[in-house]
Amino acid sequence: MSSEKTKDARPVLALSGGVGGAKLALGLARVLSPGALTVVANTGDDFVHLGLHIAPDIDTLTYTLAGIQNRDTGWGRDDETWSFMAALGELGGETWFKLGDRDLAVHVERTRQLREGEPLSAITAGIARSLGIASRILPMTDDPVRTRVMTPDGPMDFQRYFVEAQCAPQVTGFHFAGAADAEPHPEILAALGDPELRAVIICPSNPYISIDPMLALPRLRAALAACAAPVIAISPIIGKQAVKGPTAKMMAELGHAVDAVTVAEHYGDLIDGFVVDTVDASAATRIAVPVMVRPILMRSMSDREQLAAAALEFADRLTAGRA
Ligand code: GDP
Repeated sequence: MSSEKTKDARPVLALSGGVGGAKLALGLARVLSPGALTVVANTGDDFVHLGLHIAPDIDTLTYTLAGIQNRDTGWGRDDETWSFMAALGELGGETWFKLGDRDLAVHVERTRQLREGEPLSAITAGIARSLGIASRILPMTDDPVRTRVMTPDGPMDFQRYFVEAQCAPQVTGFHFAGAADAEPHPEILAALGDPELRAVIICPSNPYISIDPMLALPRLRAALAACAAPVIAISPIIGKQAVKGPTAKMMAELGHAVDAVTVAEHYGDLIDGFVVDTVDASAATRIAVPVMVRPILMRSMSDREQLAAAALEFADRLTAGRA
């Protein structure tokens, strides 16, 4: 990778959910000058469990950007122990949502600060600082937004659907309770209006449950639509499959074709460019915006960095083309 002094310092804004998004966010953080990256995190997955405020996507981003994510589970912290969970189980407590001992410290501390009146964004920034993260991680809003999954048997709270029911119920739609009245974090609006902004990168996250909660904030959506910098999305679908998680299953249940084209159509006018995998090269003609075709599966750190650099170069080319 390029040396520190050749790294680009122009600001970049990324929108991300958890695991898939955080992989690219890490690549972006590594190819950009320290501090150039701001990642907007989905908070629709947040919930209160055992009296603690859990913010799964913020935590996945935080742990990933700090290099301390759990590589075995895909969520939570590395070097984890489970004494709390075992003891809770012995008491007959709720064990369907796993909280490791180290992870627990974050939830306890976050909840304590929230009770003292600190906004989630300030708490998130404090935790990131403690863990040595140079990028900014911003919750999409400090207001409560809660994702509900619609099923033929009625609405389900997101974590009950995702973790307890392991995404088995059929989905018929989603509702983001609180989104219509939620204020996007002001720094997100400031970043989107910044004439220096180099690009907005929509990470390869689940469009329905990771990115849509952000787009459901009316002022965030409007600011994204009005943003002068190119907005580039990376497909979370490769061929006819998601790399991981329920994105493909949800697409099929919602009656859409399971492919990258559906993702591009979903973002519609909001995006200026779309990145698909080489196996989807033929799909490019069916996508309404300029398409970059390259490998988009991120296995290694180098994959993350190269995809990040390619997406930014794609944005730069679109900017140059407009001039
Ligand atoms: P979650 O909140 O933990 O579900 O994470 P995200 O919504 O951010 O990411 C889930 C999506 O990431 C899934 O649709 C996956 O297909 C996608 N994904 C995971 N790894 C990769 C990868 O290496 N490349 C691409 N293009 N997508 C990926």
